[in-house]
Amino acid sequence: MHEIQLHNTLSGKTEPFVPQKPAEVRMYTCGPTVYDYAHIGNYRTFIFQDILRRFLKLRGFRLNHVMNLTDVDDRIIANSAAKGLSIRDYTEKYVQAFFDDCKTLNIEAPECWIRATDHIGDMVALIERLREKTFTYDSEGSIYYRIAKFPNYGKLSKIDLSGIQAGARVDVDRYEKESARDFALWKSPKPGEHFWETPIGKGRPGWHIECSAMAMKYLGETLDIHTGGIDLAFPHHENEIAQSEAATGKPFVRYWLHAEHLLVEGEKMSKSLGNFYTLRNLFAKGHKPSTLRFLLASVPYRKQLNFTFDGLQQAASSVERLRNFTARLQQGKFSAGKQKGMAARIDQAADEFDAGLSDDLNTARALAAVFDLVRDANIAMDKGEFRQGDVAAVQSLLATFDRVFAVLEDTDAERLRVLGYGAKEAGPGDAEIERLIAEREAARKRRDFAAADRIRKELADRGILIEDTRDGSVRWKRK
Ligand SMILES: [Zn+2]
Repeated sequence: MHEIQLHNTLSGKTEPFVPQKPAEVRMYTCGPTVYDYAHIGNYRTFIFQDILRRFLKLRGFRLNHVMNLTDVDDRIIANSAAKGLSIRDYTEKYVQAFFDDCKTLNIEAPECWIRATDHIGDMVALIERLREKTFTYDSEGSIYYRIAKFPNYGKLSKIDLSGIQAGARVDVDRYEKESARDFALWKSPKPGEHFWETPIGKGRPGWHIECSAMAMKYLGETLDIHTGGIDLAFPHHENEIAQSEAATGKPFVRYWLHAEHLLVEGEKMSKSLGNFYTLRNLFAKGHKPSTLRFLLASVPYRKQLNFTFDGLQQAASSVERLRNFTARLQQGKFSAGKQKGMAARIDQAADEFDAGLSDDLNTARALAAVFDLVRDANIAMDKGEFRQGDVAAVQSLLATFDRVFAVLEDTDAERLRVLGYGAKEAGPGDAEIERLIAEREAARKRRDFAAADRIRKELADRGILIEDTRDGSVRWKRK
């Protein structure tokens, strides 16, 4: 196995990954702000952190991974007030949709899912701690963080702080680098807005304090890994560092990992350009969850991902190629023994797969290792050289691959049906398919070709394609 290397935004370097406690990883991911359906750019980041956690688990680490739901921020406060709903009632639909989408994309649930609104007391306690250390000041019922008091401010995003006026403030949760200012930890309520009654007054937390308070509560004062989209590095993560390190005097996070942006057909995704997609928009167009997962995972996370419909098509055929190969391995008839050189070829592919993922999660390199082997094995099968004795080793490599990429199992139709897309009826299960294929074989043996054709047609009508191969075996797959 290769040494795991990860690119740390804080140092600007790719470093060997060594957690604080051997075999345990304490990781935090900024979850979605549940004011709307998450879009494919968001899912690019969530797929990245899923690949990361699955790879770390594959390599034997025990994960303690916390992900939050930001269910209070400027937009949620404004939208819920406008609709006359409580925060819980307003966000519930989007929380549920997010959980459903993650399941559909095979994104593993983290060890701990938490909501900001369940942790207001922890946020208040952290603000009080900062106040005691004089990192805060009050103004008009709100409480601000004094960035001039934290000399390391800007170390993550490498922001230039010259020319920033002491005491200038910013109230909104999201802002550009140019407006780096003292930011709100606690905001006094405007008329009609939801607020909490707390020892530091009426109001609600700023977005940044939420993650500092929750991450440290569940993972301790120093985390191993913190992930998020690159757009969160400033101001959100910079402010998390300022809050946490001012309070504890300890490093907050050892490895900061950020996923790059996603473009759509070469352009920034935006509602006004008409190129804005949620997962559900794409499912409604007939695209499969496995296709989306594969596409979003296939580009290494630190590269911009250009999402195109051609790319989706290619991703669909890549998944198809892998599934066909898996079926061929399982259902094909090969002569006994081992093919000369094949065992070494499989070992080399497994080593290169691990090398790729160890190389700062270079998913493109890891995928190439698997696809190269699939190509070589398919050629060997076509020539009749592939042997039964090599089947198990190839299957084991595919199983390892799928513990990280999670696209081999053909459950797309079922997943879509749960969300209300695709066919209403469930197709036949594997056992039923195998039974019908056996019946068809029997019919052919007794030269009842009309019965054999009838069974083939029945299967086709129910979405199952069968193929008679040269070696005399029968392969099948779902359409
Ligand atoms: Zn966060």
